[in-house]
Amino acid sequence: MENLQKIANGLRADVLDMVVEIKDGHPGPAFSAADIITALYFGGHIHIDPENPDSPDRDRFVLSKGHACPLLYAALIRKGVIDKKHKLTLRKIDSILQGHPDMIKTPGVDANSGSLGNGLAMAYGMANALKLQKSSRYVYVICGDGELGEGITWETFINIGKSQMKNMIVFIDNNRWQSGGSITDVGGIGSLKEKFEACSLQVIEIDGHNFTQIFEAVAAAKESNKATVVIAHTIKGKGVDFMEEDNSWHKRVPTAQQYESALRQLRGE
Ligand SMILES: [Mg+2]
Repeated sequence: MENLQKIANGLRADVLDMVVEIKDGHPGPAFSAADIITALYFGGHIHIDPENPDSPDRDRFVLSKGHACPLLYAALIRKGVIDKKHKLTLRKIDSILQGHPDMIKTPGVDANSGSLGNGLAMAYGMANALKLQKSSRYVYVICGDGELGEGITWETFINIGKSQMKNMIVFIDNNRWQSGGSITDVGGIGSLKEKFEACSLQVIEIDGHNFTQIFEAVAAAKESNKATVVIAHTIKGKGVDFMEEDNSWHKRVPTAQQYESALRQLRGE
Protein backbone atom coordinates (compact mmCIF):
# COMPACT_ATOMS: atom_id res chain seq x y z
CA MET A 1 0.00 0.00 0.00
CA GLU A 2 2.91 2.29 0.79
CA ASN A 3 4.31 1.60 -2.64
CA LEU A 4 0.96 2.40 -4.28
CA GLN A 5 0.83 5.70 -2.38
CA LYS A 6 4.29 6.50 -3.71
CA ILE A 7 3.22 5.67 -7.25
CA ALA A 8 0.07 7.82 -6.94
CA ASN A 9 2.05 10.81 -5.73
CA GLY A 10 4.62 10.18 -8.47
CA LEU A 11 1.80 10.37 -11.04
CA ARG A 12 0.58 13.61 -9.44
CA ALA A 13 4.11 15.04 -9.73
CA ASP A 14 4.24 13.97 -13.41
CA VAL A 15 0.94 15.82 -14.00
CA LEU A 16 2.46 18.99 -12.54
CA ASP A 17 5.61 18.59 -14.67
CA MET A 18 3.43 18.44 -17.78
CA VAL A 19 1.12 21.32 -16.78
CA VAL A 20 4.06 23.57 -15.86
CA GLU A 21 5.85 22.83 -19.13
CA ILE A 22 2.88 23.78 -21.37
CA LYS A 23 1.44 26.31 -18.88
CA ASP A 24 -2.03 24.79 -19.21
CA GLY A 25 -4.09 21.89 -17.89
CA HIS A 26 -6.19 20.55 -15.04
CA PRO A 27 -4.29 19.49 -11.89
CA GLY A 28 -7.17 19.55 -9.37
CA PRO A 29 -9.46 17.01 -11.07
CA ALA A 30 -6.46 14.80 -11.92
CA PHE A 31 -5.34 14.68 -8.30
CA SER A 32 -8.73 13.56 -6.96
CA ALA A 33 -8.70 10.53 -9.29
CA ALA A 34 -5.01 9.64 -8.84
CA ASP A 35 -5.43 6.95 -6.20
CA ILE A 36 -8.22 5.18 -8.11
CA ILE A 37 -6.18 5.12 -11.34
CA THR A 38 -3.13 3.91 -9.42
CA ALA A 39 -5.11 1.11 -7.78
CA LEU A 40 -6.53 0.00 -11.14
CA TYR A 41 -3.30 0.13 -13.17
CA PHE A 42 -0.74 -0.80 -10.52
CA GLY A 43 -2.82 -2.88 -8.12
CA GLY A 44 -3.31 -5.77 -10.52
CA HIS A 45 -6.68 -4.91 -12.09
CA ILE A 46 -6.25 -3.43 -15.56
CA HIS A 47 -4.42 -5.91 -17.77
CA ILE A 48 -2.71 -4.26 -20.74
CA ASP A 49 0.40 -5.51 -22.55
CA PRO A 50 2.82 -2.61 -23.19
CA GLU A 51 4.18 -4.49 -26.22
CA ASN A 52 0.70 -4.93 -27.66
CA PRO A 53 -1.63 -2.30 -26.17
CA ASP A 54 -4.29 -2.83 -28.86
CA SER A 55 -4.68 -6.55 -28.13
CA PRO A 56 -8.38 -7.45 -27.92
CA ASP A 57 -7.46 -9.46 -24.82
CA ARG A 58 -7.07 -6.41 -22.58
CA ASP A 59 -9.17 -4.70 -20.00
CA ARG A 60 -10.60 -1.38 -21.18
CA PHE A 61 -10.31 1.87 -19.28
CA VAL A 62 -12.31 4.98 -20.07
CA LEU A 63 -11.49 8.24 -18.35
CA SER A 64 -14.87 9.81 -18.99
CA LYS A 65 -13.78 13.01 -17.20
CA GLY A 66 -11.28 13.43 -20.03
CA HIS A 67 -9.85 16.74 -18.81
CA ALA A 68 -7.94 14.77 -16.13
CA CYS A 69 -5.98 12.98 -18.90
CA PRO A 70 -2.42 14.02 -17.92
CA LEU A 71 -2.95 11.59 -15.05
CA LEU A 72 -3.86 8.78 -17.47
CA TYR A 73 -0.84 9.64 -19.63
CA ALA A 74 1.41 9.54 -16.56
CA ALA A 75 0.05 6.07 -15.67
CA LEU A 76 0.50 4.78 -19.23
CA ILE A 77 4.07 6.16 -19.33
CA ARG A 78 4.88 4.43 -16.05
CA LYS A 79 3.27 1.25 -17.36
CA GLY A 80 5.53 1.41 -20.44
CA VAL A 81 2.62 1.76 -22.88
CA ILE A 82 3.62 5.34 -23.85
CA ASP A 83 7.32 6.20 -24.31
CA LYS A 84 8.47 8.62 -21.62
CA LYS A 85 10.05 10.89 -24.25
CA HIS A 86 6.51 12.18 -24.92
CA LYS A 87 5.85 13.26 -21.34
CA LEU A 88 6.57 16.98 -21.71
CA THR A 89 4.81 17.27 -25.08
CA LEU A 90 1.36 17.50 -23.48
CA ARG A 91 -0.95 19.81 -25.46
CA LYS A 92 1.79 20.74 -27.96
CA ILE A 93 1.07 20.82 -31.70
CA ASP A 94 1.32 17.31 -33.19
CA SER A 95 1.88 15.72 -29.78
CA ILE A 96 0.44 12.27 -29.19
CA LEU A 97 -0.65 13.60 -25.78
CA GLN A 98 -3.59 15.85 -26.54
CA GLY A 99 -5.37 18.10 -24.02
CA HIS A 100 -8.22 15.57 -23.99
CA PRO A 101 -7.82 11.83 -24.68
CA ASP A 102 -7.47 10.77 -28.32
CA MET A 103 -7.64 7.02 -28.94
CA ILE A 104 -6.22 7.38 -32.47
CA LYS A 105 -3.11 9.29 -31.41
CA THR A 106 -2.32 7.78 -28.01
CA PRO A 107 -1.45 4.13 -27.29
CA GLY A 108 -3.44 2.65 -24.44
CA VAL A 109 -6.29 5.16 -24.68
CA ASP A 110 -9.59 3.37 -25.30
CA ALA A 111 -11.94 6.30 -25.97
CA ASN A 112 -11.92 9.93 -26.98
CA SER A 113 -13.41 11.68 -24.00
CA GLY A 114 -13.80 15.09 -22.50
CA SER A 115 -17.04 15.88 -24.20
CA LEU A 116 -18.55 15.03 -20.84
CA GLY A 117 -20.94 12.12 -20.49
CA ASN A 118 -19.98 10.44 -23.75
CA GLY A 119 -17.14 8.35 -22.31
CA LEU A 120 -19.51 6.42 -20.08
CA ALA A 121 -21.81 5.65 -23.03
CA MET A 122 -18.87 4.48 -25.15
CA ALA A 123 -17.70 2.27 -22.28
CA TYR A 124 -21.17 0.70 -22.15
CA GLY A 125 -20.82 -0.13 -25.85
CA MET A 126 -17.42 -1.71 -25.20
CA ALA A 127 -18.86 -3.78 -22.34
CA ASN A 128 -21.65 -4.98 -24.66
CA ALA A 129 -19.09 -5.99 -27.29
CA LEU A 130 -16.96 -7.89 -24.75
CA LYS A 131 -20.06 -9.68 -23.50
CA LEU A 132 -21.01 -10.73 -27.04
CA GLN A 133 -17.46 -11.99 -27.56
CA LYS A 134 -17.72 -13.92 -24.28
CA SER A 135 -14.57 -12.14 -23.10
CA SER A 136 -13.71 -12.24 -19.41
CA ARG A 137 -12.18 -8.73 -19.60
CA TYR A 138 -13.62 -5.76 -17.74
CA VAL A 139 -14.38 -2.16 -18.66
CA TYR A 140 -13.36 0.27 -15.93
CA VAL A 141 -14.66 3.82 -16.04
CA ILE A 142 -14.04 6.98 -14.04
CA CYS A 143 -16.76 9.63 -14.29
CA GLY A 144 -16.66 13.01 -12.64
CA ASP A 145 -19.49 14.01 -10.34
CA GLY A 146 -19.92 17.23 -12.32
CA GLU A 147 -20.23 15.05 -15.40
CA LEU A 148 -23.44 13.56 -13.98
CA GLY A 149 -25.18 16.80 -14.98
CA GLU A 150 -25.07 15.43 -18.53
CA GLY A 151 -28.31 13.63 -19.44
CA ILE A 152 -26.52 10.94 -21.44
CA THR A 153 -24.95 9.58 -18.24
CA TRP A 154 -28.41 8.73 -16.86
CA GLU A 155 -29.56 7.12 -20.10
CA THR A 156 -26.45 4.98 -19.82
CA PHE A 157 -26.88 4.12 -16.13
CA ILE A 158 -30.48 3.05 -16.82
CA ASN A 159 -29.18 0.74 -19.55
CA ILE A 160 -26.29 -0.61 -17.45
CA GLY A 161 -28.83 -1.51 -14.79
CA LYS A 162 -31.42 -2.89 -17.22
CA SER A 163 -28.88 -5.22 -18.83
CA GLN A 164 -26.93 -5.78 -15.56
CA MET A 165 -23.68 -5.17 -17.40
CA LYS A 166 -21.56 -6.94 -14.85
CA ASN A 167 -18.31 -6.59 -16.78
CA MET A 168 -18.40 -2.83 -16.25
CA ILE A 169 -17.23 -1.13 -13.06
CA VAL A 170 -17.91 2.59 -12.87
CA PHE A 171 -16.21 4.85 -10.35
CA ILE A 172 -17.66 8.27 -9.61
CA ASP A 173 -14.85 10.63 -8.63
CA ASN A 174 -17.10 12.38 -6.13
CA ASN A 175 -14.98 15.41 -5.30
CA ARG A 176 -18.05 17.66 -4.89
CA TRP A 177 -16.75 20.26 -7.34
CA GLN A 178 -17.08 20.95 -11.02
CA SER A 179 -15.54 23.56 -13.29
CA GLY A 180 -18.08 26.26 -12.45
CA GLY A 181 -18.35 25.75 -8.68
CA SER A 182 -19.65 23.29 -6.11
CA ILE A 183 -21.88 20.45 -7.32
CA THR A 184 -24.61 21.55 -4.91
CA ASP A 185 -24.62 25.13 -6.20
CA VAL A 186 -24.33 24.35 -9.91
CA GLY A 187 -26.28 21.14 -10.51
CA GLY A 188 -28.00 20.42 -7.20
CA ILE A 189 -28.00 16.77 -8.12
CA GLY A 190 -28.99 15.41 -4.68
CA SER A 191 -28.49 11.83 -3.47
CA LEU A 192 -26.48 9.83 -5.97
CA LYS A 193 -26.97 6.58 -4.06
CA GLU A 194 -30.76 6.70 -4.43
CA LYS A 195 -30.54 7.61 -8.10
CA PHE A 196 -28.17 4.74 -8.88
CA GLU A 197 -30.28 2.30 -6.88
CA ALA A 198 -33.31 3.44 -8.87
CA CYS A 199 -31.34 2.35 -11.97
CA SER A 200 -31.11 -1.18 -10.39
CA LEU A 201 -27.37 -0.82 -9.72
CA GLN A 202 -25.35 -2.05 -6.77
CA VAL A 203 -23.92 1.05 -5.07
CA ILE A 204 -20.74 0.96 -3.00
CA GLU A 205 -19.47 4.08 -1.22
CA ILE A 206 -15.79 4.36 -0.37
CA ASP A 207 -13.02 6.76 0.50
CA GLY A 208 -11.48 7.18 -2.95
CA HIS A 209 -8.03 7.78 -1.44
CA ASN A 210 -7.99 4.51 0.52
CA PHE A 211 -6.41 1.70 -1.51
CA THR A 212 -7.87 -1.08 0.66
CA GLN A 213 -11.37 0.30 0.13
CA ILE A 214 -10.82 0.66 -3.62
CA PHE A 215 -9.70 -2.99 -3.87
CA GLU A 216 -12.59 -4.18 -1.72
CA ALA A 217 -15.03 -2.30 -3.96
CA VAL A 218 -13.63 -3.93 -7.11
CA ALA A 219 -13.81 -7.36 -5.46
CA ALA A 220 -17.40 -6.76 -4.35
CA ALA A 221 -18.33 -5.54 -7.84
CA LYS A 222 -16.89 -8.70 -9.41
CA GLU A 223 -18.71 -10.94 -6.93
CA SER A 224 -22.09 -9.24 -7.18
CA ASN A 225 -24.97 -10.36 -9.39
CA LYS A 226 -25.64 -6.72 -10.17
CA ALA A 227 -23.71 -4.14 -12.13
CA THR A 228 -21.86 -1.80 -9.78
CA VAL A 229 -21.26 1.90 -9.37
CA VAL A 230 -18.64 2.93 -6.83
CA ILE A 231 -19.18 6.37 -5.34
CA ALA A 232 -15.62 7.31 -4.40
CA HIS A 233 -15.53 10.24 -2.02
CA THR A 234 -12.47 12.25 -2.98
CA ILE A 235 -10.77 15.58 -2.44
CA LYS A 236 -10.15 17.83 -5.40
CA GLY A 237 -6.44 18.68 -5.52
CA LYS A 238 -5.65 15.81 -3.12
CA GLY A 239 -1.99 15.61 -2.09
CA VAL A 240 -0.97 19.27 -2.14
CA ASP A 241 -2.21 21.37 0.77
CA PHE A 242 -2.84 24.62 -1.09
CA MET A 243 -4.68 22.84 -3.91
CA GLU A 244 -7.01 20.73 -1.78
CA GLU A 245 -10.61 21.99 -1.85
CA ASP A 246 -9.58 25.13 -3.77
CA ASN A 247 -11.57 24.90 -6.99
CA SER A 248 -9.39 27.51 -8.71
CA TRP A 249 -7.01 24.56 -9.31
CA HIS A 250 -9.57 22.96 -11.60
CA LYS A 251 -7.52 24.50 -14.42
CA ARG A 252 -4.53 26.47 -13.25
CA VAL A 253 -0.76 26.54 -13.53
CA PRO A 254 1.39 26.76 -10.39
CA THR A 255 4.02 29.48 -10.00
CA ALA A 256 7.64 28.32 -9.73
CA GLN A 257 7.42 28.55 -5.94
CA GLN A 258 4.11 26.65 -5.79
CA TYR A 259 5.51 23.99 -8.13
CA GLU A 260 8.52 23.42 -5.87
CA SER A 261 6.35 23.31 -2.76
CA ALA A 262 3.94 20.85 -4.40
CA LEU A 263 6.76 18.52 -5.52
CA ARG A 264 8.23 18.56 -2.01
CA GLN A 265 4.86 17.62 -0.52
CA LEU A 266 4.33 14.85 -3.06
CA ARG A 267 7.78 13.45 -2.27
CA GLY A 268 6.76 13.45 1.40
CA GLU A 269 9.42 16.00 2.42
MG1 LIG B 1 -15.92 16.88 -9.66
